[in-house]
Formats: sequence, structure tokens, C-alpha cells
Amino acid sequence: MTRQRTTSPALTLQREPVAGLCPACASASLSRYPVNSEGGWFNTVKCQNCLHSVERERAPRLGPIQLISDTIKDAV
Ligand SMILES: [Zn+2]
Repeated sequence: MTRQRTTSPALTLQREPVAGLCPACASASLSRYPVNSEGGWFNTVKCQNCLHSVERERAPRLGPIQLISDTIKDAV
């Protein structure tokens, strides 16, 4: 990806720090955040040093965007 010049601060997703060590590079900088890949949204825990995926689980179909209809499905 190329770096682009912007006139306003870039939007960033909140990255939740996770305790633990990266199995690939032993860095302690693990973060949990949603990513959009070829298979849709996934909630991942990734090493911020080498980008190794420590955890990867299916996320809701719109990732961080939650539909009201999805939140009430248990009530049906
Ligand atoms: Zn790592």
C-alpha cells in the first residue's frame, strides 16, 4: 500500500492491547482488532511488530458495524 498525503487525520480503528508474546518474534505488542479480508470480516489478534496472526475468528458480516437486526436475533 502506498502512503498518501491527507489533509485531515486518518481514521483509525481502536486497537485493543492484548497481553502475551508473539509466537513468531516474541514481541509483546499484540493487539486485537477487526480486519477485512477475502473471506469477510475477522476479529484478529495480531503482532504489531511482525503482523503474525495469533488469533483469527469470524466476525459479524459487517465487522465493526453492528446491525440492529443482528442484535435482536436472540429475541425472535
Ligand atoms: Zn511478531
